[in-house]
Amino acid sequence: MLELTMKGYRTLGVVLKPEVVIEVEPVEQPDTCLCCGASRLHSKGRYERQVRHLDLCGRPTHLRIRCRRFACCACRRSFVQPLPGIRPGRHSSEPLREYVYQQHHDGICAATLAHRRELGQATIGRIYAQFTERKAKERLSLDCPTVLGIDEHSLHRRQRFATTFCDLKNRRVFDITPGKSDADLQWFLRGLRGRERVRVVCIDLSSSYRALIQRWFPRAMIVADRFHVVRVVMRHLLGIARLVYPQLAWKLSWLNLLRTRGNRLTPEQRHRLQEVFRQQPALAPIYELKERLCALLCLRQHRTHVALHPQQRHHRRLPS
Ligand SMILES: [Zn+2]
Repeated sequence: MLELTMKGYRTLGVVLKPEVVIEVEPVEQPDTCLCCGASRLHSKGRYERQVRHLDLCGRPTHLRIRCRRFACCACRRSFVQPLPGIRPGRHSSEPLREYVYQQHHDGICAATLAHRRELGQATIGRIYAQFTERKAKERLSLDCPTVLGIDEHSLHRRQRFATTFCDLKNRRVFDITPGKSDADLQWFLRGLRGRERVRVVCIDLSSSYRALIQRWFPRAMIVADRFHVVRVVMRHLLGIARLVYPQLAWKLSWLNLLRTRGNRLTPEQRHRLQEVFRQQPALAPIYELKERLCALLCLRQHRTHVALHPQQRHHRRLPS
């Protein structure tokens, strides 16, 4: 029979409305106690678990699993039977989680995936973090990428920081590890294979990782990534604009116009921007400067500072 679900289950029936629910039971029952290994078990009755599984014919699908709770005659402990492909406490099957991880990894954003799979965005984030951690363990035998991006972020609100290591050549997350200080990351960095061959490490301008990179990636050049540089440029120039014309702080529509890149303005917005400059001519040269800096920073192949000696550690400087 066609396997509807996963290895290790027998399909009992399929309910199609309002969503697909496949009723299954595990093929194998445990024959020894999970705690002491004794072979005399007795059933403490049935219970049902329901988890999300891979879509069937494009429809959200659940597995309803009929399983049992057992008690051990020797140690008196009771336990629920382990289920193939479903980890304890999870509300989705491993094949679904692997699928979600792969889709997110291939670049489909969490919001789109959450909408398509009818899952929460936080769930997508959790699945991704779990699989990244697991894959990272499998990758321990792999060498560290030679062009590395290091950035800090928090996975959830109120949670500690984590540090992300990206393979910038292949545009992939290489690893995520908890903490952001040298002490937090020491253990991880020490075990990183091939870190002496890392050529470029990309960080944001205000990064606290600088000392850490100098210590752990001795031959790498430190580079500021474009995204963060553009953000700093924008912040400073808008600061100057507010000094020139303090009322700008309340004129959100003006601020938005000044923030928008020239090539993304609609004809109507361009017209409004000209009106802004007519009323406040001092804002025009600031906007021009912002446009010029952003255009320079967004050149993809900008090779002026690439051939640096390893000892020359500094950010790529803004062209003056
Ligand atoms: Zn036992």
